[in-house]
Amino acid sequence: MAKAQETKKETRGFETEAKQLLHLMIHSLYSNKEIFLRELISNASDAADKLRFAALSNPKLLGNEEPSVYIDFDTAKSTITISDTGIGMSRAEVINNLGTIAKSGTAQFFEKLTGDEQKDSQLIGQFGVGFYSAFIVADKVEVLTRRAGRPAKEATIWKSKGEANYSLEVGEKPEPGTQITLFLKDDEKEFASGFRIKSVIKKYADHIAIPVYMPVEAAPESQAPDADQNQNDESTTTDPGYEIVNDAKALWTKPRAKVKKSEYNEFYKHISHDFQEPLTWSHNKVEGKLEYTSLIFLPSRAPFDLWNRDAARGLKLYVQRVFIMDEAEQFLPLYLRFIKGVVDSNDISLNVSREILQKDPVVDSMRSALTKRSLDMLDKFRKKDREKYTEFWSEFGQVLKEGPGEDFGNKDKIAKLLQFNTTESKEDKQDQGLEDYLGRCKADQDKIYYLVAESLSAAKSSPHLEIFKKKGIEVILMTDRIDEWLMGHLTEFDGKQFQDVARGQLDLGKLDSKKEKSKQKSVEEEYASLVERVSKLLDSRVKEVRVSHRLTDSASCLAVDDNDMGLQMRKIMEASGQSVPETKPILELNPSHPLVTRLDKEQDEERFGDIAVVLFGQASLAEGGQLSDPADFTSKLNKLLLQIN
Ligand code: ADP
Repeated sequence: MAKAQETKKETRGFETEAKQLLHLMIHSLYSNKEIFLRELISNASDAADKLRFAALSNPKLLGNEEPSVYIDFDTAKSTITISDTGIGMSRAEVINNLGTIAKSGTAQFFEKLTGDEQKDSQLIGQFGVGFYSAFIVADKVEVLTRRAGRPAKEATIWKSKGEANYSLEVGEKPEPGTQITLFLKDDEKEFASGFRIKSVIKKYADHIAIPVYMPVEAAPESQAPDADQNQNDESTTTDPGYEIVNDAKALWTKPRAKVKKSEYNEFYKHISHDFQEPLTWSHNKVEGKLEYTSLIFLPSRAPFDLWNRDAARGLKLYVQRVFIMDEAEQFLPLYLRFIKGVVDSNDISLNVSREILQKDPVVDSMRSALTKRSLDMLDKFRKKDREKYTEFWSEFGQVLKEGPGEDFGNKDKIAKLLQFNTTESKEDKQDQGLEDYLGRCKADQDKIYYLVAESLSAAKSSPHLEIFKKKGIEVILMTDRIDEWLMGHLTEFDGKQFQDVARGQLDLGKLDSKKEKSKQKSVEEEYASLVERVSKLLDSRVKEVRVSHRLTDSASCLAVDDNDMGLQMRKIMEASGQSVPETKPILELNPSHPLVTRLDKEQDEERFGDIAVVLFGQASLAEGGQLSDPADFTSKLNKLLLQIN
């Protein structure tokens, strides 16, 4: 039954998402059409890599020829044909690879599309367009492919006009590999020119490690149609009429000085499927006990699936120039998952598997060296271009913040790379580093003060900042979900302790004068009885009531006890379904606020209770928290308001 299915011609519909992608591709990438060639050559090169890898365990798979790509064109017929001698595809693989989009998170990605072609073309670059980019210039595409190891008669022909359907037929192909023919649209005929194609290859595919061949032409600018010359395109034997048109050398094997910036850029795009240029890179050859070459890149934009836990990450692994696997995640820690690149080792065995990689001590040493290398690259980049680094930070900062908790050994190095909003930030950007903070802090200041809040606006208006504003002490404002967790792992920087301004008793150390300290003591004594009365009243809701030294304008605020869990952490834990132990906040009252002095003098027990509950409620609200009994709060507040005359 399955056999019969495989031999007959059939027409299939594209999966919904593939259809959407095709539509977008055709309508939004018009300003950068020539990239189709880059994408198809990139695929051909990957296919050659995969064949070489498969041949390690089955040398018979390698055909008569070195892996290579041929590009032919027919000006009269307006076609371009890209043939490779790579791994090829079976019928099932064709259906899977060219009829669907097998990327995790695709559905969520498509939800983000706006319908605005300009914006969507940006997004689509982030997604990676690949094979479908053929339809930017072609109104019909035919693929003839044969999986290496399968008989010549088991080739598959895939045809599509890029609309809703594609057809499949059984074909014949003497050599394994894939041949893709593009029937150019009327207004894209200019691409059927040797000169045009060669210039695109120079620009985008020079770095491709396998040779790219094109027919030799009399003169490079010759546009003369010579239909006969390419009639035997389907043959993949080396034709004396072909010449290599790219550099054909694995880019990372070349010395740094010999590689141009544009070549690094294009190589990055090839391995990352990103459209944007990388922000920076680091290319290193290591010799000695271990021998390997690494080329790592810092992308400028987060991929669409950065937050998807199963998303692909890791480096492309080569062993002695032979491609072994994509996404070898053992070479970098999770908090550096945004780094892209290749690593080519001379010490790892050619028949290594993912499982073996996990246990290999060589891989462990490489991982720690590559981690340092990546952190150094970030440090250097940050020093060189702070503005661009801040852009990088807004894309990937939250990932890097996972670092201190994950990689104890590099905690200090990572801490130097962190950026935050602070009370001194000019813009609402996380643009200040810890060294910047220390550079500005007061001579007597022995702590690094920070505040964790739900949002930047909540942070800025937090009552906890009042005393710091008054004294002109800078406070770091933390508003990312991960921040409280991060601060659980970061206790000090450059010899100074971190201090959450909403946690514990506020002690400004030497920043408070002796006089201020003794005044605080006498105020505490003065209000001892008020504190006791309020404590009794709110006993079930608060852990403690005390006089506050951090407030200037607000009447009350909540503080977290030293070892208790903060609000943000509590929310994260609850959201992930974990049970969180009940903790009560500390209520602090501002002795210089008229409402508090009024409360102190209040004789009417009922009114005393009402005011105390309102002060407690206000403090919870200022925290971005929720009232435990909103109806009770409102009725008490209204009762008090009605007493105004
Ligand atoms: P990507 O390359 O990002 O995976 P593409 O849409 O370009 O996405 O290709 C989808 C899949 O089709 C590839 O992952 C590969 O398995 C297969 N493919 C594409 N081109 C070729 C080719 N020339 N030879 C063999 N397989 C190919």
